[in-house]
Amino acid sequence: MNGEDVAMRVIAIDGPAGSGKSTVAKALANRLGLSYLDTGAMYRAVAFAVLRRGGDPESLDQTSAIAEQLTLEVDNGVVLVDGVDATIEIRGQAVSQAVSTVAANPGVRRELVSRQREWTRERGGGVLEGRDIGTVVFPNAELKIYLTADPAERARRRAKEVTDLDYEEVAADISRRDAVDTGREADPLVEATDAVVVDTTGLTIEAVVDRILGLLDRAQPEPS
Ligand code: C5P
Repeated sequence: MNGEDVAMRVIAIDGPAGSGKSTVAKALANRLGLSYLDTGAMYRAVAFAVLRRGGDPESLDQTSAIAEQLTLEVDNGVVLVDGVDATIEIRGQAVSQAVSTVAANPGVRRELVSRQREWTRERGGGVLEGRDIGTVVFPNAELKIYLTADPAERARRRAKEVTDLDYEEVAADISRRDAVDTGREADPLVEATDAVVVDTTGLTIEAVVDRILGLLDRAQPEPS
């Protein structure tokens, strides 16, 4: 951490798949006038590049070399991988199946964490969503939120977003990724000790965003 980081406004939103991170983080960024970064899209982009090059997602060296060489742009929901628009394909079944293996690779994580910090510094802060934002990427974030939701609701939400899988397949994919993401050695999905846990089951996006904005107000120092 350097002095520049202390001055930046960073909000960390972590949690498992389907907990509402993307929708909430986007709405929150809008309300606060901050940039929004979907770090899951970056891991998906690396998995996409590995598959596209006919690589083996299990190969640690090959996969981290691809992550290091990749030209990657994630902005306003559009994901460009080596200049190719991969926005749709990174949400498909092939990438969803490979992504947690790719994300368990410490070399890939090192590279993407560094790019995430750079992205945030260039914008003077942001709302970042992922699995390790409050624990690894920005441990000094102004506010850390850990979103959860009932597993059935998480699967229902994801099933609405993807077109090539039915509910059962989505539920299986989520529980498999949860197991890999929480069980991996490198930066596993875990609640930061100072994160506020928000259970989004049955709550509207507005209600979740309002609750987070309320937490931010409370975190502001009293005027002297
Ligand atoms: O957020 P999303 O579900 O699209 O993330 C896809 C995968 O990327 C996750 O299942 C996880 O394996 C990985 N990921 C990660 N660290 C992050 C964001 C995502 O390991 N900060």
